[in-house]
Amino acid sequence: MKKASIYGLTIEQLTSWLSDHGHKKSRALQVWDWLYRKRVTEFAGMTDVNQDCIQLLNENFVIQTLSQHIKQESADGTIKFLFKLQDGNLIETVMMRHKYGLSVCVTTQVGCNIGCSFCASGLLAKSRDLSSGEIVEQIMNVQLHLDQMGQDETVSHVVVMGIGEPFDNFENLLNFLKVIIDQKGLAIAARRITVSTSGLANKIYEFTDTQMQVNLAISLHAPNNELRTQIMKINRAIPIETLMESMKYYVEKTNRRITIEYILLKDVNDHKEEAEQLGDLLSVLSPKVYVNLIPYNPVDEHSQYQRSEHESVLAFYDTLKKKGINCKIRQEHGTDIDAACGQLRSKQIKKAEAQ
Ligand code: SAH
Ligand code: SF4
Repeated sequence: MKKASIYGLTIEQLTSWLSDHGHKKSRALQVWDWLYRKRVTEFAGMTDVNQDCIQLLNENFVIQTLSQHIKQESADGTIKFLFKLQDGNLIETVMMRHKYGLSVCVTTQVGCNIGCSFCASGLLAKSRDLSSGEIVEQIMNVQLHLDQMGQDETVSHVVVMGIGEPFDNFENLLNFLKVIIDQKGLAIAARRITVSTSGLANKIYEFTDTQMQVNLAISLHAPNNELRTQIMKINRAIPIETLMESMKYYVEKTNRRITIEYILLKDVNDHKEEAEQLGDLLSVLSPKVYVNLIPYNPVDEHSQYQRSEHESVLAFYDTLKKKGINCKIRQEHGTDIDAACGQLRSKQIKKAEAQ
């Protein structure tokens, strides 16, 4: 059996694992500090941890399981990493620079079973969930890259918007969040983390009940069931009414604003009529709602969709504003390097198949 990454354990899990193996509690804190603050990549580098403990850790865990396959840098400072997992699968992670800090977009699954009609990630069915360690490792790899650059920068924001449906890998997602939020480690504030879902309503309730105060984004993309089912087949099982109820629950319980993601697809969902419907639909959540209007990143296999005209985007924005809904047009990052969800990975896989 391949050894798992130690990054997958929360501090509580590491503490109880070490104490089950005869080590005192404070040892876990020491190891944790080496992992997340001093950021060693080998157990042997934990110089004040006793040799018995180092040997035990070496026998049972590894720190790194991902290896860097490709790294692409964009003119705007965006970096896209393609990592190889231990089983040879490839996943994507993107680092973006903003005025407010530095964010990382992580992948949660190898492929995605939701299969939305516009998305490159859904082209390949899910072959497996990522472990929580593999998700934490993506952040750590980016952080280690920054450390190596010597610019004293840290990852300040995290978006769970890479390949996969995070709520279809719920337990590992929660573990991952606990690890990166932990004050004693990376200490990324919950309010600076956003999880995006295609709308698994049951999990939205569960997620709310964790009281983690992590932001939630919903991939809505259409204001009525007919259109949403056409674009996202998940809507057949979980229609908009069911989704809206779960969103209301999140907003009421957390008092946090919810983000609605809406990709603008030319002549499909970008008419004034849809903007008005969307405004009416979301008014029950207002002002605790925020619409992100997303320019579509064309995907070769989904040639039925094109990016909306600039005028349609502006008109859509104006209509929503007039309806009193907060919204913004998402700024794009790294379009010159296939930074859209799943694109680099699917291109690499196609290339490998063609060889
Ligand atoms: N599965 C989750 C999270 C990953 S997708 C979800 O669907 O929310 C993250 C976001 O990228 C979603 O809002 C998704 O709709 C969007 N997206 C997918 N393909 C895209 C494309 N080609 N162009 C623009 N946005 C895209
Ligand atoms: Fe999966 Fe999200 Fe892509 Fe839909 S948009 S196929 S849920 S990754």
